[in-house]
Amino acid sequence: MAPSRPPARRRQAELRWSVAADVLKAYRGEPEASRAELTKRLHLSSGTMTDLISRLDAGRLITETAAAPTGRGRPSTQLLPHPDGPLVLAADITATGWRTAVAGVDGRLGELHGGSHDDYSPTSILDAVEATLNGYRRRYRHRISATSVSLAGTLSGTRVVQSAVLGWQQVELSSLGAGGPLLCNNDATLAGVAEARRGAARQARVSTHLMVLSGAGGGSCQDGDPILGATGASAEYGHLPFGRAPIRCSCGAVGCWDVELGARALARELALDLAGPVQEVTAVREWLAAQSPDAPAPELRAQAASLGRGLAGLINAVDPELVTISGLATDVRRLAPGDFAEAFSQALMSYRRSCPPPVLDAELNEDGPLVGAVELALDKALSPAALSAWVGED
Ligand SMILES: [Zn+2]
Repeated sequence: MAPSRPPARRRQAELRWSVAADVLKAYRGEPEASRAELTKRLHLSSGTMTDLISRLDAGRLITETAAAPTGRGRPSTQLLPHPDGPLVLAADITATGWRTAVAGVDGRLGELHGGSHDDYSPTSILDAVEATLNGYRRRYRHRISATSVSLAGTLSGTRVVQSAVLGWQQVELSSLGAGGPLLCNNDATLAGVAEARRGAARQARVSTHLMVLSGAGGGSCQDGDPILGATGASAEYGHLPFGRAPIRCSCGAVGCWDVELGARALARELALDLAGPVQEVTAVREWLAAQSPDAPAPELRAQAASLGRGLAGLINAVDPELVTISGLATDVRRLAPGDFAEAFSQALMSYRRSCPPPVLDAELNEDGPLVGAVELALDKALSPAALSAWVGED
């Protein structure tokens, strides 16, 4: 965030702040941890930690309070976001509506706002989101360090290449950044980041997430970082050719998994005549609520088999330690476990069958994309170079 700084000075600043950046990252991964616990986790001496905390406090990044007593030993302290510290903004634009949040260095979502879509016009949706983000900016001014947007679609840089659920093609999101750093990513990919850092996959070094709503999407993370590809459009799992129906997908390809798995596919199979993705997801949720694992309907069994087969394909390709699933995927697996398990096992490479990675239900669910967006914004706002700029070393 100081692009004009000479490389040697920038490198010096990065070295000066790299351990402090590690402390801040470990802190937000575990905001309840005491200072003593973080010191141990980062393999620091207590003296080094004392120096770091003094710098972070003087730099308006974190402050301290007494930690709850834990029995014997010296009382420790707990870290808190500094009351004048940096903040990031996040927005999540889904098929049904949008939500925004502000977060400090602990990554907790605060001041949530949101609305539902009156129509799917990019202008009206983006105007509403931008007005809300600008409200935070007026309130917090210089404290806002980055903005991060989650959107249900394929993104390349700050551009929505296509979104089937919103009906958007080639929509630019840069107005949401107000001239500051702006990150834009797919919602399911961000949900995977959230699970890897704060949810069911936080113990896994490599994890894969699959979110199923209208269609399927996901992402994989290594050491908590998403694998985004050259342009940010990686991990379009819904557009892998795992679908058997010869139907052309909205992306332009034939045979996408997205056309076979999710509310859109189930609504088509059940011949439900519905107006759009919101109605489809609602109707399919109601239909699933009436299903029983004792006698799942053929359409549900087909969904479970497709889910199992596709997840096995992802495991063969990505080699994750752990898989998380969210949205309709959790219900589909729960309601037709036999069909899921058989298809899953059959599609796994044989050497994996005896010990496949666990497939867990996600923990963050609807908050996942917003939490993931905050995480990536804080990566940017709290990088060593950004910390140096924040404390005014330019
Ligand atoms: Zn497709």
